[in-house]
Amino acid sequence: IVGWDAARETVMSAYAGFDPRMAEIAEPFFTKGWIDAGVKPGKAPGAFAHPTVTDVHPYVMLNYLGKPRDVMTLAHELGHGVHQVLAAEQGEMLSSTPLTLAETASVFGEMLTFRKMLSEAKTDAQRRVMLAGKVEDMINTVVRQIAFYDFECKLHAARREGELTPEDIGALWMSVQGESLGPAFEFMDGYEHFWAYIPHFVHSPFYVYAYAFGDGLVNALYAVYEENPEGFQDKYFDMLKAGGSMHHTALLAPFGLDATDPTFWDKGLSMISGFIDELEAMEA
Ligand SMILES: [Zn+2]
Repeated sequence: IVGWDAARETVMSAYAGFDPRMAEIAEPFFTKGWIDAGVKPGKAPGAFAHPTVTDVHPYVMLNYLGKPRDVMTLAHELGHGVHQVLAAEQGEMLSSTPLTLAETASVFGEMLTFRKMLSEAKTDAQRRVMLAGKVEDMINTVVRQIAFYDFECKLHAARREGELTPEDIGALWMSVQGESLGPAFEFMDGYEHFWAYIPHFVHSPFYVYAYAFGDGLVNALYAVYEENPEGFQDKYFDMLKAGGSMHHTALLAPFGLDATDPTFWDKGLSMISGFIDELEAMEA
């Protein structure tokens, strides 16, 4: 169990290690009561950061139970909070980010915190558990969401040819699941209906790409930061301050990144495969 004070210290020191200005922006969330972290009867589950209006300040809602994953959720939502504070100067109409960049600051905040926790792991076993968890999260965010996207493409193309029965949809679902998860899995009876539990398929078709895009983007950004940390922070803050006022091609140009170039995505994917290699090397 990670107590609240320890979680706060972990995230704040990870943020400060990146840049003291980032910790400065995050500080009032803790000291001024902008985070509702406690679990109580009747409280909605989940977590989010809400920007409210641009001339006030954001709020963060969590259900903090002290699991290591809750520390990452704090880092995630606080990243959104920092982004919302910085983008507020764009005003009401331009502060909110497009989908492509909506998860940048949050996933980057998680990455900083994860690296910090990993560097402080006391035993190999702890390190292995953390790496395995991170790899699992990344596979969920990238491989699984892309499989969801493939499913939607196939589904919409098939629907254009005529009406589909639940069995038809289930067959499309199983074809992409089999392909994305590989031969290691045995699917239980009933799994063919699991497409029905993803609300995005109905409420925001093709939204799922944003998760994979965000994860790949942050991995590429982090790789740039590791290669050449000099001056990275200023560019990073400028990107967050721009809110929704610029296209991702303009926002990423100062980092020498271009999401339309396949090597950009290779940068992101090679971080995931690097973690998997590290994990496999530990399996002795
Ligand atoms: Zn988020």
